[in-house]
Amino acid sequence: MFEKERNEIIKTGIALDRYGLIALAGGNVSARMSDGNILVTPSGMIYESMIPEDIILMDVNGNIIAGDRKPSSDTEGILYIFRERPDVMAVIHTHQPYATAISLIQDEFRADLTTLGNAAGGNVAVAPYSPPGSIAMGEDTVKYIGESFAVILAHHGVMTIGKSIKQALNAAVYLEESAKAYLAAAAVGPTKHLTDAQIRQTVEVYKYVGQDSGAIPKELTERI
Ligand SMILES: [Zn+2]
Repeated sequence: MFEKERNEIIKTGIALDRYGLIALAGGNVSARMSDGNILVTPSGMIYESMIPEDIILMDVNGNIIAGDRKPSSDTEGILYIFRERPDVMAVIHTHQPYATAISLIQDEFRADLTTLGNAAGGNVAVAPYSPPGSIAMGEDTVKYIGESFAVILAHHGVMTIGKSIKQALNAAVYLEESAKAYLAAAAVGPTKHLTDAQIRQTVEVYKYVGQDSGAIPKELTERI
């Protein structure tokens, strides 16, 4: 059951590695299925070595429906997100180094780069430290993520969410790209800011990017 989705989850895990967002078996990928149940990647397995049957199917309370593997050690926190946010269809957890580095120096990553406004939906909060494997990882994600698609977990990594696996992956990849550029600038001197209105504009523009939407309305491309 859900063969296509299982394969997409494995492909996404491999992409996390390709984009430098995890190493070896780090992080996890999970998604809500059409029947309301959740597919979660197994604990401690390298994504390239996974086959579709390795992905565990469970209900939102963690009762396993199909799969013999031990699910991700972060499952409790992941399921908390799916229970509290019925709009969320996918959750990705990474240990991406540049975004995580920001959590060691500040409590928010302002969307001063358009990439971040676009992919994460605005500023990205840094949630306080919570131990790996804790339900607090999920509680903090729900509490701090707001309207954004990403939150940085202090001293640990990143959680992204989306209406699809692709959206959650985009948020993680573009967050890392932005974090890299920001840290390069911050290492040299004080950084410059976009205004709140400019950030809101980039977020709006993004809604028209991709094959499924129309042309960008002219007023959104005016310089403000
Ligand atoms: Zn982790």
